[in-house]
Amino acid sequence: MILTDFHVHSSFSSDSEAPMEDMIKAAIEKGLGCICFTEHQDFHYPPGGSCDFQLDAEAYWERVTQLKEQYKRQITVLRGIELGLSEGMEEEGAKLLASYPFDFVIGSMHIMDGKDPYYPSFWEGAPREEILRRWYVQMAENIRRFPDFDALGHLDYVARYMPGGPKEYRGELFEEEIDEILMLLIEKKKALEINTNAYRYGSADPHPQRWVIERYQALGGIRFTVGSDAHVPERVAQEFPRTEQLLTELGIRESSLYVGRERFRLTFSR
Ligand SMILES: [Zn+2]
Ligand SMILES: [Zn+2]
Repeated sequence: MILTDFHVHSSFSSDSEAPMEDMIKAAIEKGLGCICFTEHQDFHYPPGGSCDFQLDAEAYWERVTQLKEQYKRQITVLRGIELGLSEGMEEEGAKLLASYPFDFVIGSMHIMDGKDPYYPSFWEGAPREEILRRWYVQMAENIRRFPDFDALGHLDYVARYMPGGPKEYRGELFEEEIDEILMLLIEKKKALEINTNAYRYGSADPHPQRWVIERYQALGGIRFTVGSDAHVPERVAQEFPRTEQLLTELGIRESSLYVGRERFRLTFSR
């Protein structure tokens, strides 16, 4: 059993209404030993949408610290962040990471050229293959510009929102660009996140697809975190049994966890 959920949101993220305490209770009910909150902060997220992805870091820190103490006999609560990687966020990102002793930082790309693929306008103006290729090229650039994170979030999540949905997605077309990203992660000792929220969008695989995980392994990658990306209590640890089965098939029997930005390894329990 996978005992850690390393990608969880609560109402401190602008796209979640879930009280933090409810997320913790759900994790306890599901038998987890550890839950890491990774609230959104996306600097320069384009205005006008339904969410702004700006974190009240002070309020978040106060609440998560309080609940960490309150529940310490039942579960380990860790204090992380999901930091949006985009051009121009470097200074503010560094400042935020210097302001709080986060346990864990996910680096995630959510926007490109000031646009979010969640909105249809992102996909206008060029063939989708061209847009996707550019997305991955930019992701590598983002990692080079701001490598101060521990795991790369949902590598191929952009597929969720492409016209036609994830079933139309042909990740193999971008093998070269994805290889570049994987090699950067390995070189910089970053974990590849296995994000189980993908199943909810009709994918047969988590993020990233199975072949990407295999490719990361083949290139020498050994660091994995597992996260549900839950924004509601019901989805904490979603699809973990199915994901464990996949990882076991690939010879992976442990996940990484991070405390104070230091990596530890935890074998899946029997
Ligand atoms: Zn994300
Ligand atoms: Zn997330």
